[in-house]
Amino acid sequence: MIIDTHAHVDMDAYDGDRAEVIQRARDNGVEYILNIGCDIDSSLRSMELAERYDFIYATAGVHPHDVKNIDNNTYDHLRGLLTHPKMIALGEIGLDFYKNYSPRDLQKEHFRKQAELACELNKPIIVHSRDANEEIVDILSDYYPKNPSARSGIFHCFSGNQELANRALEMGFYISFSGSVTFKKSDDLRTVAKMVPADRLFVETDCPFLAPVPRRGKRNEPAYVGHTAQLIADVRGLKIDDVQRTTTLNFFELFGIGKDVETGTVSYKIRNSLYLNLTTRCTADCSFCTRLTRPVVQGYNLQLDREPTADEVWASIDDCTKYDEIVFCGYGEPTLRLDVIKEVSKKIKAAGGKVRLNTNGHGNVINKRNILPELKGLIDSVSISLNADTAEAYDEIVRPLPGLRDGIYEKVKDFIEESKKYIPNVQATVVTHQDGVDESKCEDISKNDFDVDYRERRYNIVG
Ligand code: SF4
Ligand SMILES: [Zn+2]
Ligand SMILES: [Zn+2]
Repeated sequence: MIIDTHAHVDMDAYDGDRAEVIQRARDNGVEYILNIGCDIDSSLRSMELAERYDFIYATAGVHPHDVKNIDNNTYDHLRGLLTHPKMIALGEIGLDFYKNYSPRDLQKEHFRKQAELACELNKPIIVHSRDANEEIVDILSDYYPKNPSARSGIFHCFSGNQELANRALEMGFYISFSGSVTFKKSDDLRTVAKMVPADRLFVETDCPFLAPVPRRGKRNEPAYVGHTAQLIADVRGLKIDDVQRTTTLNFFELFGIGKDVETGTVSYKIRNSLYLNLTTRCTADCSFCTRLTRPVVQGYNLQLDREPTADEVWASIDDCTKYDEIVFCGYGEPTLRLDVIKEVSKKIKAAGGKVRLNTNGHGNVINKRNILPELKGLIDSVSISLNADTAEAYDEIVRPLPGLRDGIYEKVKDFIEESKKYIPNVQATVVTHQDGVDESKCEDISKNDFDVDYRERRYNIVG
């Protein structure tokens, strides 16, 4: 199931076959359509669609192209429309300095006014931004603070650069990609699509415009949103299921529509790997980690009401050989449950599976002994979070529990060195974009001091 978060099915492009287009969307697994208003008339038509179809929701707003037609009654109309329970956002609003169909000053004035209205009504906004990166941020930053507690809305049909994406994310916005991300010349956009955190990502059609490859040039429709989702999955090294799951959860989190994910996930599939969630306890409190606030990865909620037993973990694995690897991971430190790792790995290996352990490298400190000889033959690869090039930076970022702090960075390095003796593949990892960390030095330490693989990952990209 997938969601088209930006469609204009009310437009006259569909006058001949609207019902068929909507049915085709359903037939192609589109779970919800958010139909977007561009002026009062189209907002009304969007509302009518939302009333007719239970899986269509709608928005009301005045597009920057159309602000020149705003009159004395427009804002009263908008307020009225937005009281409807299925009118879930204000938009699309913004700036379009590419087409300039309305004067720029007027665009700015009404972007501000509509943003103010959205804040007053407590509605997310749908932002249209074209060739106006600086001005958009300039205006939005007056209404949306950095790191807000609530999510602000969606930058739709994103076409900006990484800097604009970063600013939007800081202000609590989601980034939505349309079919334009599938176009041949969109390499820069694909680079941005790779970096947007999973919990801030959407896909859309913006139909009838911008049909994705392989439908490019044709009239677009919600049924084609899967092509864009597939492209996003490809650039992020994921499966389309992963993108569908995360964007569906994002829709729920932003608008409260659909359903929340269940807690208590013991095993979860991402790409061709199966991940095992043993615990949410940890001996660190990494500054970037959402273990305590939002333990969700790729649309799976890893919060546990209680820790699973070894038997329960084993029972959650359907087939050891069908996965590239089976990974002890989760939002917590697996070596806190060393016995379970050993018992389950043994069974996975006997059943022909491959095992990886993702760890913060505190295993020997936690278990007060060198645990690595015990893992020999049970674990095929281990990924150890190095995360810093100095002990000071490590303490700042990883924030080990107080009783553990003494010399912990050196102990993690010792764990990497010791792992090489017992585990065939050892990898040191770094979560990128952390203050005070020289990533090239981390790479140097991993490759030259330890002669192990090195991997950088941006938090919340592939989990
Ligand atoms: S080690 Fe992992 S689970 Fe623990 S706080 Fe850091 S990122 Fe979160
Ligand atoms: Zn738009
Ligand atoms: Zn639009």
